[in-house]
Amino acid sequence: MTKHIFVTGGVVSGLGKGLTGSSLGRLLKARGLRVTMQKLDPYINIDPGTMNPFEHGEVFVTDDGGETDLDLGHYERFIDENLTKDSNCTSGSIYSAVIAAERRGDYLGRTVQVIPHITDEIKRRISRLASDDVDVVITEVGGTVGDIEILPFLEAVRQFRLDVGRNNVFYLHVTLVPFIGPSAEQKTKPTQHSVTELRSRGIQPDAIVCRSDDPISLELRRKISSLCDVEISGVVNVADAESLYELPLVLHDEGFDQHVCELLGFSERAIDLQPWRQLVGRVREASFALRIGVVGKYVSLPDAYLSVVEALKHAGIQQGAVVDLEWIQAEEVKGLLAAGRLRDLDGVVIPGGFGERGIEGKIAAATFAREHFVPCLGLCLGMQVMTIEYARNVLKLAAANSTEFDARTPHPVIDLMDSQRDVTDMGGTMRLGAYVAQLKSGSKVALAYGEKVVSERHRHRYEFNPKYRSRFAQSGLILSGESPDGRLVEFIELENHPFWVGTQAHPEFKSRPDRPAPLFREFVAAALERATGRNPQLLEVEPTNFPNRD
Ligand code: GLN
Repeated sequence: MTKHIFVTGGVVSGLGKGLTGSSLGRLLKARGLRVTMQKLDPYINIDPGTMNPFEHGEVFVTDDGGETDLDLGHYERFIDENLTKDSNCTSGSIYSAVIAAERRGDYLGRTVQVIPHITDEIKRRISRLASDDVDVVITEVGGTVGDIEILPFLEAVRQFRLDVGRNNVFYLHVTLVPFIGPSAEQKTKPTQHSVTELRSRGIQPDAIVCRSDDPISLELRRKISSLCDVEISGVVNVADAESLYELPLVLHDEGFDQHVCELLGFSERAIDLQPWRQLVGRVREASFALRIGVVGKYVSLPDAYLSVVEALKHAGIQQGAVVDLEWIQAEEVKGLLAAGRLRDLDGVVIPGGFGERGIEGKIAAATFAREHFVPCLGLCLGMQVMTIEYARNVLKLAAANSTEFDARTPHPVIDLMDSQRDVTDMGGTMRLGAYVAQLKSGSKVALAYGEKVVSERHRHRYEFNPKYRSRFAQSGLILSGESPDGRLVEFIELENHPFWVGTQAHPEFKSRPDRPAPLFREFVAAALERATGRNPQLLEVEPTNFPNRD
């Protein structure tokens, strides 16, 4: 029988419910349990695919093409499982399914209501992740207890315990214990109120994870235990940690997984945390600071690039480097270049994005990296930008562009595929999810992957225009990966450059803390080489295409 853990949050949003659930998932996996995870989001959008990254951070893409909440990225990175679109559902998708069923006449003329129809649909979504291959499903309920939108979810989650049996369900509540300056005290009242609110919906937590700036005392834990009616072993404190990958160890040291396992009947299982401890050890030991510039349009909200940041960290962890990110607003690149401010970067990442704003700055950053031998990794839009810059400055195709930014460009080196031309529905209609590419043997990309055929996740409408292939291929730009039918260009790279590589895909989504995505690994290795000057002869190469290097 699959067991279910439900994670709710109280007091304020942004307490790291997703990370707490993910860390618990890692601890359960370390006991040999088969774990999967999902997120229930109370907003009305069918999925986050159409949402502005400033609103909601990164859209995380699953292998099967789901455009999902960024917490799924944490889930995948911590429990090391590839999830599917079934692992994220929103109120919008739930209502949409219920309304479609009503239109089909499935409800046989009855009045369709939040209880039982919406709650039944929520329970169906929760149950569909439970199978013979899964021991534990961890379900995070987005939002904060007390929100109006969350009520149908809490009701469904409450009923679920009755449906599957008391011993098969565990309720975990994540709250905040704030420090109040004037009285110099940590306060438990917000936690008490939040648990009261949860109980008013019929849910009594089995554990409370208290987030705090500094560790909370045993006395305070006892108080929470007694006032919230949770055993002391279930009142767990997580003070702010240095690295998010320390969180499973912090929770374990607090006895949290033991408490969960005792209640769910898994306490006999031994835990093997050795690999995770080694990982955290490497995080702590990493000392060489690398300066990596990320040139984007959403840089004021770093969550918009969460998986890129994590993938860079993973590569750094593996190579003993701390990746210090320099967030560069794309529109400011030209000014920064004129002031010579990008010269001491060890590498440049141009991540994905949509829309015209900042494009010329990204192009300038790609040119700078090419001409000055700065390692550069272009992801999706980043690869498109590198293609445009190379077309303009090396192939001398003046005004080359993507038709996304200039519909009348004389050289549409990036263009829509025919299948995308008539699309009017903006939801879920891009090239989404895993696609395989064949790599050119001997290329940097092929060497990085160590394989000839690779699969990466995609999320874009525009493509490298095949009409320009031969012009690029005749110059020093290597089209190092293509779709198996040879129609789509998936990877590009430059000869005679330490690392100037672009991919139409988003390899950041598959990076794991102990297995950095190959292109990130090689990018960081090239940046390290630049930083340590270990390979100065690279700077002696004098390729013909780089007129402006200093
Ligand atoms: N806007 C570009 C496209 O749709 C790139 C998308 C992205 O970077 N994810 O093709």
